[in-house]
Amino acid sequence: MRTVDVLIVGAGFAGLRALHTFRGIGLDTVVLEADDAIGGVWNFNRYPGARCDVESFDYSYRFSPELEQEWRWTERYATQPEILKYINHVADRFDLRRDVELNTRVQTATLDENSLRWRVTSTDGREWEAERLILAVGQLSAPKNTTYPDQDQFEGRIIHSSRWPREEVDFAGKRVAIIGTGSSGVQMTPVIAEQAAHLTVFQRTANYSIPAANSPVSDEEDRAVKARYRERREAARNSPSGLGFTPDSRSAIEVPEDERNAAFEAAWNRLGFGFALTFKDILLNQESNDTASAFVRSKIAEQIVDPALRKKLIPQDFPFGTRRPSVDSGYFKAFNRPNVELVDINETPITGFTRSGLRTADAERVFDIVIYATGFDAFTGSLLKPVISGRGGMTLQAKWAAGPVSFLGMAVNAFPNMFIIVGPGSPSLLSNVLLSSEEQIDWLADLFAYCRDNRIDAVEATAEAERDWVAHVNERAEETLYLKTPSYYLGAEMPGKPRVFMPYSGGVRGYRRFLEDTAAKGYAGMSMHRAEATAA
Ligand SMILES: Cc1cc2nc3c(=O)[nH]c(=O)nc-3n(C[C@H](O)[C@H](O)[C@H](O)COP(=O)(O)OP(=O)(O)OC[C@H]3O[C@@H](n4cnc5c(N)ncnc54)[C@H](O)[C@@H]3O)c2cc1C
Repeated sequence: MRTVDVLIVGAGFAGLRALHTFRGIGLDTVVLEADDAIGGVWNFNRYPGARCDVESFDYSYRFSPELEQEWRWTERYATQPEILKYINHVADRFDLRRDVELNTRVQTATLDENSLRWRVTSTDGREWEAERLILAVGQLSAPKNTTYPDQDQFEGRIIHSSRWPREEVDFAGKRVAIIGTGSSGVQMTPVIAEQAAHLTVFQRTANYSIPAANSPVSDEEDRAVKARYRERREAARNSPSGLGFTPDSRSAIEVPEDERNAAFEAAWNRLGFGFALTFKDILLNQESNDTASAFVRSKIAEQIVDPALRKKLIPQDFPFGTRRPSVDSGYFKAFNRPNVELVDINETPITGFTRSGLRTADAERVFDIVIYATGFDAFTGSLLKPVISGRGGMTLQAKWAAGPVSFLGMAVNAFPNMFIIVGPGSPSLLSNVLLSSEEQIDWLADLFAYCRDNRIDAVEATAEAERDWVAHVNERAEETLYLKTPSYYLGAEMPGKPRVFMPYSGGVRGYRRFLEDTAAKGYAGMSMHRAEATAA
């Protein structure tokens, strides 16, 4: 059994950054990763067209100015291979691999109530003991396991978008089905459409999507960004979503129509995911949102030739932005191709597989490859897989039976010395996730240093602080339009999951104020323990 100061679960962007930072303050740290490679979602989601939808200059680590200067992004929105290459470069440059144990899936983590240390086991029976347990298991790392009847009969190939094979998949001459039109389906459709003989896209929910306006990064742009990178990072930290720009401070409906449409047009052509930030209240006020939704619908309509298809592809029944909008590179135009077909599964549900393809209510369709792009058990999927037991044997599953509760999205009462990175209750998927994870990790490093200086063995969110934070997260959510739409933000994508709004919608800047305030007050809201005794 190895004994460490900090045990981190997950070697994605967050786990690796945490390793570097905690090691940097002298803590003996290990990362356990279930897969045989580092990179998290960027290791798993190798589907054609996969890329980030936050600009790479912002969707990258900020902790090392040298790293910033030496890395050269080739595109405004980097592809998955380039992002994975970056993660591997970081791991080598900062010598991270020696403390990452691959092929190690955490099965249990149990608090020893005397020592207030965590005993962790893996599925293959190995053990660790750690003073602090960090869950960096990801928000979108647990795929939703959609299946249809008779799947085992199918003689073709089935692939899940988030467990994409490492070798290239050859679509040439193939009849391909994509089930799902969330971001993964939206990104892969135009790429596969160009390669396959025939592509059928099965749609349950028509999605809003904004063009990526992707382009190569010129040397000039690269130099310009690098000359002012610190300012850019600060702008991102001080923006609502960590994207580096702030909305127009007016309400969309206060602005004359032609001015509003000009602002939407500019945002449509440049902002991608940030379109929702054109005006301050697009996600707060229905009337304002109506103007944005109408604009996006009209832009989608312009891209689709066939009126019947247009009707099916334009989202009608939920406000723009209340499900995570996609950022695309030619999604809607792909449906103008003669080899691409759309099937609305609300009209003609998939009833099961046949030996040669899929059966819908109206037909049997033949496929060589069926791709599930059906999404994730978001926010809590990977957090609730291992059995994590805190005080009195309370498991995280039991504690979160009615939905996730925490203080600041990071600390959970009855689970001392356990911390979650970019979990529910933090800005998480409503933000530039990488930026949000770095904010939390830096804060935790300060907390751990404080504990060391003050001879504190364990930190735990108080029940009161947890209650107040959950109430605050809910209050902020109630101010928004998010609650109007069943989405993964609300757990609505998973049957049986509690319907609770999970991310913190108060923005990254607002969230940081709480972090700073808590630290400034000597970590108010957290009780400090010494093993076998309570210090404060
Ligand atoms: C296709 C795709 C595109 C995205 N694009 C963006 C974007 O542009 N901008 C943005 O902000 N966010 C984006 N995201 C969200 C993304 O989840 C985060 O940006 C970020 O990469 C998450 O990093 P992470 O380290 O927190 O988690 P992950 O990358 O999910 O890593 C978690 C790791 O934990 C491991 N793990 C889980 N459970 C266990 C266990 N029990 N034992 C051991 N290991 C375990 C997993 O195997 C995984 O490697 C995207 C997500 C996807 C899927």
